[in-house]
Parts: sequence; C-alpha cells; structure tokens
Amino acid sequence: MDFDTIAAISTPLGEGGIAIVRISGDQAIGIADKIFRSANGKQLEEMDSHTIHYGRLIQPRTEEMIEEVMVTVMRAPRTYTKEDVVEINCHGGMVSVNRVLQLVLNNGAKLAEPGEFTKRAFLNGRIDLSQAEAVMDLIRAKTDKAMNVALNQMEGRLSKLIKSLRQDILETLAHVEVNIDYPEYDDVEEMSHRMLREKADHIEKEIKKLLKTAEQGKILRDGLSTVIIGRPNVGKSSLLNSLVQENKAIVTDIPGTTRDVIEEYVNVRGVPLRLIDTAGIRETEDIVERIGVERSRKVLKEADLILLVLNSAEPLTAEDQQLFQAVEGMDVIVIVNKTDLPGKINIGQVRDLAGKHQVISTSLLKEEGIDDLEQAISDLFFQGELESGDITYVSNSRHIALLHQALQAMEDVKQGIEAGTPIDIVQIDMTRTWEILGEIIGDTVQDSLIDQLFSQFCLGK
Ligand code: GDP
Ligand code: ZN
Repeated sequence: MDFDTIAAISTPLGEGGIAIVRISGDQAIGIADKIFRSANGKQLEEMDSHTIHYGRLIQPRTEEMIEEVMVTVMRAPRTYTKEDVVEINCHGGMVSVNRVLQLVLNNGAKLAEPGEFTKRAFLNGRIDLSQAEAVMDLIRAKTDKAMNVALNQMEGRLSKLIKSLRQDILETLAHVEVNIDYPEYDDVEEMSHRMLREKADHIEKEIKKLLKTAEQGKILRDGLSTVIIGRPNVGKSSLLNSLVQENKAIVTDIPGTTRDVIEEYVNVRGVPLRLIDTAGIRETEDIVERIGVERSRKVLKEADLILLVLNSAEPLTAEDQQLFQAVEGMDVIVIVNKTDLPGKINIGQVRDLAGKHQVISTSLLKEEGIDDLEQAISDLFFQGELESGDITYVSNSRHIALLHQALQAMEDVKQGIEAGTPIDIVQIDMTRTWEILGEIIGDTVQDSLIDQLFSQFCLGK
C-alpha cells in the first residue's frame, strides 16, 4: 500500500527520561538522513536494518546542532508498521521532544493521526484487529496486571480462541450441507438439527466463559473503583493517604477525570484501585455534604469496592449503622480505625453488622493494620482462579458487545431448532455467529468501522 511518511512522539508526554519520535513510511530513512549526523560519519541509508546509532540532530540549512540522540533504523517489513521505521531517542523533556518532532515534520514527514501507526500495522496485515485493540489497551494499561492482559491479547490468545470457534462453526455448517446434499439416512433433518444444537451449546459455553472474564478484565484495565466512606474524623483521609503513599500511585493521562471527582490510581498487590476522591475527600469530610445526596448515592452505587471506616475510640452511632445499610449487597471491607486509643466500640456489634464482610483493625496513625487491609483487598479480588496467568481475558467493550450478539445468535439457533424451523433458516443464524465472531478479529469489518476504531488510539502508536 502507498502511504505518506508519518511521525509522532510515541512515548507518553512528560514522563520518563527518554522520549521517542517515531517515523514510518517510504521516506523515513531519507528524512532522518537529512537531519541526523552519525558519530561515525555514515548515512543511515548505509546502515544495516535493526541497528542503533549515536549522533547529533542538526538543522540542515545551518548545520546548527539541535540535540544528541540515538537513532534506530528498521527496514520494512520486519517493523511495527511493516514499513521503514526510524526511531529517534532523545531527552524526555517536552520542549526537546517537540523540537525534534518539529524538525522531522519540517523535513517531509506528516504528523500521524491518533492510532495511525497501529492502523498501518493492521492495514499492512501485520496484526489483526483484536491485536490492534490490545495495543490501544496497552497504551492505557495502568498496572502490570493490566499490562499482562493486554500483552496476552496482543499475542493473539483471544484471536486464536475466536478463530478456532469459527473453524468449528464452519465445519459444522459444511457437515450439515453435506448431509442435505447426500442424505444417507431418512432423518437428515433431525440429524442436522442435533448437530447444530450440539454445536450451539458448545459455542455458547465457550462464549459465556469468555464473558465471565470480561468484568474482571474491565476491572484490570480501569481499576477497581473504590470509595472510602465513614463519619467525619474517623480517618478516611488518613486511609486514602496511606494507600497512596504505601503503594506507588499510578500516574495517568486518561481523559475524563472531571473537575469534581478526582481519582487516584494505586496498585495494591497487583490490584489496581481507582480511589475515588469525590470533590476532594482529602479536605472535606463528608461526600454527602459536598456533592449532594443524589450524586453520592450514584458514586456509591457504581463502586466496585467500599471501604467503610469506623472509629474504635467511640461507640457505634446511628450514622455508622446507616452507612452499613447504604452499602448492603456490595463488596465492603470494614475498617475499625484508631486502635491505638482506648477502645469504646462494640466489636461484636460491628461483626454482626459486617456479616460476611471482612473486618480489619487499623491504627493509621501508627501505620498498623495496613498490611491486613491490603491482604483483604487482594483476597477479595483474586478469589483463587483469577491469578492464574492463562485465562483469556476479554476487556474490550466492543468485543464484549459482539460476544453478547454471538450469544444471542446461538440462542436463536436453539430456539429455531426447538420450534422446528427449517434447517436452512437455522443455518443462517449459525452463519451470523461466524460473522459476528469474525468482527472481533477484523475479518468481516467494513472500512468505516476500522476508521472509527483507530481514531480512538493515542497519538504516536
Ligand atoms: P476523616 O475526617 O475521616 O477524613 O479523618 P482524618 O483522616 O482527617 O482524621 C481525623 C483525625 O484523626 C486526624 O487528626 C488524624 O490524624 C486522626 N487519626 C487518623 N487515624 C488515626 C489513628 O489511627 N489513631 C489516632 N489516634 N488518630 C488518628
Ligand atoms: Zn478527611
């Protein structure tokens, strides 16, 4: 295919000590040669593929030095985009990176649209659509675990699974076709029905298994949305602060952090928590007071995890009990704080109210009990099976939607059979499932869908 040569900054802005400006396309090496002077005096054109070179970037007209850099040359097709790719590694500061990018653009490259590198990798046939989307998730991944999910997917695990399901369906459809064309028995219709139904059952089971991982996949990607509640002065802010301090806060550049809800990402033993700091839980004590009853109810309802904090140095109050009611049916960890002070709380009553939820004693002041709390969070999340590395997670909302559609189509197949619908109609529903699954790996998508998907990508990938 014939494309312009494109360039973009391909590392997150403002992070890390090194930034990469990536150039891809026919002109990539030529453009780089205009602005790069290698230490050994050679042109990049003469260099072997997949080699890295030290040198200076210069302003071609004046030979003015811009920056010291390392430049990697990668020739098509063994590259990310299957095109010639040059990567310029420079110092990470915003000003310096932008200057390098500007230089590249001034010398013939076009600024890449968001996701354009990955789009080319897809259009040039290097990766399939679910792999491309995994890259997008990877860019957004906030913790190591989330990163692994994205990586697994990129390695094509989901693609492989989907491909084998599609193959299965094709074989069944072919078999049914043969039965109809060359009936060996009188009960062709019945036999075909039975085959289709068995296949539908099997596919349904597999899809349901995949969908079950979806919720966990979403949590791994977006973080477990966690709300800290409790009466004024029990230690909510202290809890938030100690979780943020103990665990590396995850820096994100995710858009959508609204002005009145601040989110802190922390990684607690591999569990990404999105601590929801409603209108600055840090300063103000009362979510309800601050953002109103309605909004706080909504925040509570959408939470994946509630940390309910009590003060052990005071008897339980009616307000405490109301909080227990407000979070009924949710995942809750009860924290009895200030255990360094003389205890006044009735711990038996707390346990009654807590029911099946864990009760953890802490003294945030003395930094005690935080380990127990972290363990409780991790136990709650990883309930056994999840930690195993060989589950195929589905974490992409487009995939989830398609899997639900495929499930519906399977349901239609089974209902059709139940109702005695003619075989060729049932076959249509089966074929539809094959098509829907194909959309996940990009086999049956139209151009507009592709454009829409890639426009979501971050710049530089
Ligand atoms: P919030 O109103 O629920 O956010 O509570 P804060 O975290 O602001 O804490 C209220 C007060 O309790 C502060 O003066 C904290 O230093 C203090 N505090 C927090 N945790 C403990 C604890 O474990 N023991 C004691 N003695 N004081 C604590
Ligand atoms: Zn506070």
